Amino acid sequence: MIIEKAEKILEEYSLCNNCLGRMFGLLGKGENHIRGKSIRLVLNMEREAKGKEPFKEPEKCELCGGVLKRVEYFARLCYDKASKLKIQFDTFLVGSSFPDEIMQREREIIEKFELSHAEPINREFNREVGKILEVFFQKLVEKKNPDVVFIIDPITEKINIQINPLYVYGRYRKLIRGLPQTPLRGYDESVASIICKPFSRTAKGKAVFHGAGREDIDVRMLGNGRPFIVEIKNPKIRKINLNEIAEEINKSGKVEVLNLRFTNRKRMEKVLTENHKKEYEALIYVKEGIRECDVIKVVEKLTNATIHQRTPLRVLRKRSDIIRVRKVYKVSGEVIDDKHFKLRIFCDGGLYIKELISGDEGRTTPSVSEILNKNAVCKALDVINIEVSENGSESPHNKEENKREA
Ligand SMILES: [Zn+2]
Repeated sequence: MIIEKAEKILEEYSLCNNCLGRMFGLLGKGENHIRGKSIRLVLNMEREAKGKEPFKEPEKCELCGGVLKRVEYFARLCYDKASKLKIQFDTFLVGSSFPDEIMQREREIIEKFELSHAEPINREFNREVGKILEVFFQKLVEKKNPDVVFIIDPITEKINIQINPLYVYGRYRKLIRGLPQTPLRGYDESVASIICKPFSRTAKGKAVFHGAGREDIDVRMLGNGRPFIVEIKNPKIRKINLNEIAEEINKSGKVEVLNLRFTNRKRMEKVLTENHKKEYEALIYVKEGIRECDVIKVVEKLTNATIHQRTPLRVLRKRSDIIRVRKVYKVSGEVIDDKHFKLRIFCDGGLYIKELISGDEGRTTPSVSEILNKNAVCKALDVINIEVSENGSESPHNKEENKREA
């Protein structure tokens, strides 16, 4: 049946061995041009026995136009371009953009002769170029998560190299007040700019900072630090030394990073959406004065309290006006002087602490002001710790990712 079908195809279309073999590409093992050559040989033997002319392989194939005989040339183009741009990678994939005209002609042949075991032309082309590039580069094709993708236009012979981003996970401490997390008008620097700078430079790409939540400009981030991800777009260098980068950031004296490690997009999403419990330390000012018994009362009332918090007035422009329900778990307090005391608060992520203290004109309840029936104001605030989830961002990442940390 294969030979009969092949005869009918070749009576109408002048195909090269690759294209002929590909029409039966999902049957048997081996390369399509060998399949095609074998089919053509048997067919021509039968035709000779019947006194018919043989079907010779054409100079120019009616379907592929000969591109399948030039895969090595295309592999060379990819190799030259990657070498010229000095792109560093371990794994790659080949893709191609065949014109609709060719794809359509192929579909037409497949439907007409009911070829249920045919393989699409781009799949053969990509695979064959990939095999040659594996030898040129001495690196492996990877379908799932390649470092780079070569996209070949077989007609214009243009090569487009898509470099996939690098992702680095870490935690940061913000040691000073008055530094925004992300760039802000009127500020020369931000946590993001200090962290991203050495990444952009060493990876020769564009580093983008993603923080797991944020703290206000005047709030320090201490303790074990806030999780973040740096996404480096278009990195020409992938083997970057994370220890050296951490050292450079830490020299700033303003921001410190810990636990830097390579990660991937999927983990990034997890890190950024997880709502971690947090521990804060707040310095509170009470104009009317404060006594030991007041602090004890606040600690007692807030421990294990459920807080109803309407969107604070100060962020109302940027956030929708809703009521959040968050829990406070542990509280401890300490009198500093007759108008100041400190509170340590361990609570759900997403609770606005300044408003938990002031009461925000009754929008947060209960609050320190409400409990004392006095005006309490947060004078200084630090994030002391961000809880690390058991199975979340701190779990050991797979070997592939950390191998790169050379
Ligand atoms: Zn062909």
